[in-house]
Amino acid sequence: MPLKIKIIGAGISGLACAYHLKKYRAKAETSLYEAEDKIGGLCGSYQEKGFTFDYSGHLLHLSTRSGKALARKLLGRNQTQIKREAFVFFKGKKVEFPFQNNLFRLDKKDISYCVSEAIKAYGAQSDKKDSFKNWALALYGKGICEYFMFPYNSKLWNFPLEKLTPQWCGKFIPAYTLEDIIKGAYLKRNKKTGYNSTFYYPKSGGCGAICSALAQGLDNINLNSAVTAIDFKNKTFKAGGKTVSYDKLVSTMPLPALGKALKGLPADIKTAFKELKHNSLYVLNIAFKGKAPKGHWFYFPEDKYPFYRVGVQSSFSKSSAPKGTFSLYIEFALRQNCKADLNKLKQKAISALKDLGFIDEKSEIVTEKWHHIRYGYPIYDGRYAKARGLILDYLAKQDIYLLGRYGAWEYSFMEKSLLDAAALAKTIAKVSK
Ligand SMILES: Cc1cc2nc3c(=O)[nH]c(=O)nc-3n(C[C@H](O)[C@H](O)[C@H](O)COP(=O)(O)OP(=O)(O)OC[C@H]3O[C@@H](n4cnc5c(N)ncnc54)[C@H](O)[C@@H]3O)c2cc1C
Repeated sequence: MPLKIKIIGAGISGLACAYHLKKYRAKAETSLYEAEDKIGGLCGSYQEKGFTFDYSGHLLHLSTRSGKALARKLLGRNQTQIKREAFVFFKGKKVEFPFQNNLFRLDKKDISYCVSEAIKAYGAQSDKKDSFKNWALALYGKGICEYFMFPYNSKLWNFPLEKLTPQWCGKFIPAYTLEDIIKGAYLKRNKKTGYNSTFYYPKSGGCGAICSALAQGLDNINLNSAVTAIDFKNKTFKAGGKTVSYDKLVSTMPLPALGKALKGLPADIKTAFKELKHNSLYVLNIAFKGKAPKGHWFYFPEDKYPFYRVGVQSSFSKSSAPKGTFSLYIEFALRQNCKADLNKLKQKAISALKDLGFIDEKSEIVTEKWHHIRYGYPIYDGRYAKARGLILDYLAKQDIYLLGRYGAWEYSFMEKSLLDAAALAKTIAKVSK
């Protein structure tokens, strides 16, 4: 008898898991349960008045051979590779990203400050890297931290930087040597580095094209079927008004929400679930008539801008906006579960866009939509690793596997979802031998 594998969530992770499990069809019978009336989750896309929007720009950052091969298999000719044009707005200047490698754009005084502090930090060779704050200070010195690392990350995480660990930084914050910093300050070396120096994007259909390709041939996706009341002792859950039984359960739903759905957890695991923290995001997808600002996306460390990042959705593919228009995604971060006054936020954003010269008084809005991302970034504080570890170990023993940025509760991205899903499918198939 094939194993009954049930997957919670039809975002990129759940779909990729079902896609890879197709190979083991004889051993595993797979169904997906999705709360929404559509697939894709955060990696979906939607069409509105001739525009294609993602739920905030979603770019494929592919750094492995298997990730690239899978994207090619899924998208075929429907993908392009694009060289990043990203900038940090600082003191009215447009500084190439990464900030720490492009100090040449700053005023002389600011360059000297950043470089001399970076040299001091290098000289101090501090091994105090317990918090993000100390890690960044040890690596870059006070100048780069004061100007970019601290204000930008405070805005993004909405969490005290001295309580954040640097565990998430590896891939996401390019680590530069002192030599790189100095060359970037005095030799105008704008070497495009980091995990997103080039990226891939579908020519049409937005990021959602990847999810659509994964879903092809999957005939067991149950939409409008939020999973609740998981009885892991009897291996059943409720979804779409039915009781469903399983042998193995794969969850891609946000881990804190899974904790609430699991019935009969022991006290220490319940406590561990309560330790999980996150920030919340709002994204304003908005399109204007006129000419787009030059660049793919921009970072805003300064308080005078209400957003932390703005991306030009229409710069990723020609098909995503009608001629003579452009589209933006504007990202705002808040503390965990905080709600925002969206009218106020929009007014502030429009005024900031004018200040930046992205739009002017005459710019006409063609379409706009807000999206709330309740679980934005899982927060890596001092309790994160232990709590997450306890939960993962306990649930694995109950035949519950966790997958994806929110399922496995980690700062991750689409390529990792695709690859982790392949590895998990293999593990499940092995178990069912
Ligand atoms: C602002 C922002 C920008 C990002 N940009 C990028 C980028 O450029 N490149 C990149 O690679 N990554 C990016 N990411 C990360 C990327 O969004 C995630 O890695 C990816 O969405 C993870 O997919 P997932 O399927 O695991 O989760 P999700 O997309 O959240 O999918 C989970 C699915 O589960 C469903 N669900 C939830 N609860 C239940 C329930 N109880 N029952 C049934 N179904 C349920 C949801 O409706 C959803 O469809 C970004 C993330 C954010 C927040």
